[in-house]
Amino acid sequence: MVKEINTSIVMDTIIRYHSISRARISEITGLNKGTVSSLVSELIIQHLVFETGAGESSGGRKPVMLQFNGDAGYVIGIDLGVNYVLTILTNLQGMIICEHQEDIIGLNSQEIIPLLVRSIGIISSQAPSSPYGIVGIGIGVPGMVNAEGTVLFAPNLGWTHVDLRAAIQLNYSEMPIFVDNEANMGAIGEKQYGLGKEVANLIYISVGVGIGAGIILRNEVFRGTGGYSGETGHMTIDANGRLCRCGNRGCWELYASEQALTDMGKSIQLDGTIGTLESYVASAEKGQGSVIEAFEKIGHYLGIGVANIMNIFNPDLIIIGNRLAKAERWLSRPLQETVDQRALPIQRQSAAVQFSSLSSHSTALGASFMAVSAFLQKSTSRSL
Ligand SMILES: [Zn+2]
Repeated sequence: MVKEINTSIVMDTIIRYHSISRARISEITGLNKGTVSSLVSELIIQHLVFETGAGESSGGRKPVMLQFNGDAGYVIGIDLGVNYVLTILTNLQGMIICEHQEDIIGLNSQEIIPLLVRSIGIISSQAPSSPYGIVGIGIGVPGMVNAEGTVLFAPNLGWTHVDLRAAIQLNYSEMPIFVDNEANMGAIGEKQYGLGKEVANLIYISVGVGIGAGIILRNEVFRGTGGYSGETGHMTIDANGRLCRCGNRGCWELYASEQALTDMGKSIQLDGTIGTLESYVASAEKGQGSVIEAFEKIGHYLGIGVANIMNIFNPDLIIIGNRLAKAERWLSRPLQETVDQRALPIQRQSAAVQFSSLSSHSTALGASFMAVSAFLQKSTSRSL
């Protein structure tokens, strides 16, 4: 047990410092040099760490530097959206090696699951050879997921009680598979690889066809009692508003999401193209006033929900991500102005609102990190 913990400490230190000597690991962790040396030797045998040559000397002999072997294995991260599936392959450091995207508009769960399996196959076949191969799969889903990986309710997909993990496991029986809400995965992606690296309290707001939030408090994902926290898309912002697919009225996502854009867009004439988010972005780029106005309205409504969330959590950072972040240029100003007007001033002073820097990859990266994290945990205990 002690050895397992120490191995994990040494491993984390090597990953965090990118390039580090045995002596420095010993200084930072307080473990004695002999212990560090023997643990490092085992990690080298396991192909998880390698020596990179001599570093800078602080007086005596030049130390041998160590690095984490990010290419010891690969993982698959999947963002199952409402209208698309994005599958990525990353190495153990979150570097995206390749990706594959498919539209799933109008498909049901019986059609989507084989498509997921096919996407996993396509991406797997592109993995470079490595000591461990593919070591895990993470899947983010736009709905409520229990600890067994069953999707209990995903209103925008029309799924209730779909045993997703078991279905994928049928095809990949030996593979660790992690299924979680897509906004939780997105928050993890931002915390690990994106704007959230340096903050402890972060809310990631995923704005696609629906809206969800991943909540990280004190560096940990907050999941609530059953794992269903963050359903912010269904907070009421208009008491007498329109009926939502969840059964409630006036839900935030009816006014501030991709589906809101599609609704508003029905009355907007686009030059021959179909009303996808991409076509609206293209029209806005050409300066079409009615489309820009629609984005600004959505930005305003986004601001209303963001102000509510800011007042509740007092976070360091709120990140807007997923598909609608593509329209940052037109959403940002009305969003920030509405937050300025509606959040309590003292809350507003301490919280930043930013758009994701991970393009639309926050969820897929978070999903892949879940698999990386489990693999490293298992590897450090395997060295016993
Ligand atoms: Zn709702």
